Amino acid sequence: MGARTMNDTKGTGTGGMERTRTVRELSEFRDKVGHGRTVGLVPTMGSFHEGHKKLIRRSVKECDMTIVTIFVNPLQFSKNEDLSKYPRQNEDDIKVCEELGVSATFVPNEEEMYDAGFDTTVTVGVGKAERNERSEGGRRPTHFEGVATVVTKLLTISRPTVAYFGQKDGQQVCVIRRLMKDLFPLIELRICETERESDGVALSSRNAYLSRRARMEAGVIYRALKQGWERFERGERDANEIRQVTLGVLTEARERFQKERDDVDESGRDDGGGGVRMDVEYVSVCDRWSMREVEDDDVGNADGKVEWLLCVAITLNGTRLIDNLVLQ
Ligand code: AMP
Repeated sequence: MGARTMNDTKGTGTGGMERTRTVRELSEFRDKVGHGRTVGLVPTMGSFHEGHKKLIRRSVKECDMTIVTIFVNPLQFSKNEDLSKYPRQNEDDIKVCEELGVSATFVPNEEEMYDAGFDTTVTVGVGKAERNERSEGGRRPTHFEGVATVVTKLLTISRPTVAYFGQKDGQQVCVIRRLMKDLFPLIELRICETERESDGVALSSRNAYLSRRARMEAGVIYRALKQGWERFERGERDANEIRQVTLGVLTEARERFQKERDDVDESGRDDGGGGVRMDVEYVSVCDRWSMREVEDDDVGNADGKVEWLLCVAITLNGTRLIDNLVLQ
């Protein structure tokens, strides 16, 4: 930190940000901050968009110091997923952190986080595949273990007062909340609402994979969620109805895309890759905190209050997109 005092680092954007790459460097930074100051942690995989910036801005506003971590965590990708092509732009992201008044970045390489003998994973019950087959845990059985393991390590090294996560990954929030209640009870979890484009598409680093045409059509996810949400708002408490309404919007779009592709095939025109193929992986209505799929006989929690998550996962031309709305 040189001659600067710790107080200087908040929100000045004058280049006083500490760039750390090793566990020891980050831990030493944390030691210097000392007790009595609030520290916000924003864990990310980088390639920032407005969703990430919203989390960072909130932490900078609410905490004395903010640590942003940028690490594409291999443990949360399975073998056939997009780890190698996942977008990376660390230098640009670090500049953004500096502009937003972040106190320290942590950008480790893979060896720093996981040495050759790394052999520990953290499993959170709510994220297990058997908890809910219509969920990220069900579709990507090792995903939440990877998330919980890296978050445990990041929380342990950076020792924040508050950790910030986005509702965009609603099931992840559920896993992290349980993890923090169980293992990090003194750290507060703050959840930021999903940042969306004007057509409702949730900002996501993976949107960069979409063709222009697929991006144009991606708004169908939010439209589908919105339909389910409106049913709930009008008093519907049959989760199956809500699932069906949501699925109906997706199915209608999928059939329209299919017809377009068939028409192109028949006319013999080459569609130049402009067609859209959509697959629905799941539409789920689950309890927001236990992640159990809501069945007919569920009546909410002890005081009859319902807190559900309506979640959708689809692929558009092979790009996997997830989104959710809270029903409460
Ligand atoms: P990622 O880099 O995708 O791992 O995301 C880092 C953090 O940003 C996670 O807590 C995400 O839930 C959050 N996030 C990602 N996209 C959005 C969004 N569109 N709105 C709000 N938060 C988001």
